[in-house]
Amino acid sequence: MKNIVLFGPPGAGKGTQSAHIVQNFGLIHLSTGDIFRDNIKGGTDLGNLAKGFMDRGELVPDEVTIQMLESEASKRTGKGYIFDGFPRTPAQAVALDSFLASKGQQIDAMIALEVPEAELRTRLAGRAETSGRPDDANPDVIQNRIDVYHSETAPVAEHYRSQNKYKGVDGLGGIEEIFERIAVVVAALSETA
Ligand code: AMP
Repeated sequence: MKNIVLFGPPGAGKGTQSAHIVQNFGLIHLSTGDIFRDNIKGGTDLGNLAKGFMDRGELVPDEVTIQMLESEASKRTGKGYIFDGFPRTPAQAVALDSFLASKGQQIDAMIALEVPEAELRTRLAGRAETSGRPDDANPDVIQNRIDVYHSETAPVAEHYRSQNKYKGVDGLGGIEEIFERIAVVVAALSETA
């Protein structure tokens, strides 16, 4: 059982790399952003609540996000999880640790995609043309998401660093090239299982 947090600022490539990790290592993908977007499409109460925060580039409140994540994780069990876009606050990280501990599990590594900010802006602007995401289309919202990442999410790295689980990976280059770097980290985890 391997549980991995895939971490990085908006536009770092978390979604793209998660798909590769799932394909190659058979982990279960849990993306809070995807789950919120599914709820918005489905017109659920949770979707209606999340939409305003997402459209502004703000975080959905912790309580709502944590409860949703735990309920999705409980529905899907397997070889371990790849958490994508979660935890995004220290409170979410603490909640995730205790949720996993209650199942006799833990986070094995935080894989952090490291990408310079100018490149993030270029990628998000490019993605806006195909993603259909309103939060990619507006430069002010993109800026807010980057600011929120620095103020609220970046401290989550310290949470895992203090547990010796932080693994930084260069997030610049081709998709396959970046995946190879991630795969080395994941494979090393499997060896120490
Ligand atoms: P993402 O698809 O990961 O870029 O997330 C899109 C948006 O969903 C974010 O800008 C937040 O508004 C919301 N969101 C996703 N994950 C979380 C989370 N862990 N905590 C709070 N809000 C989140």
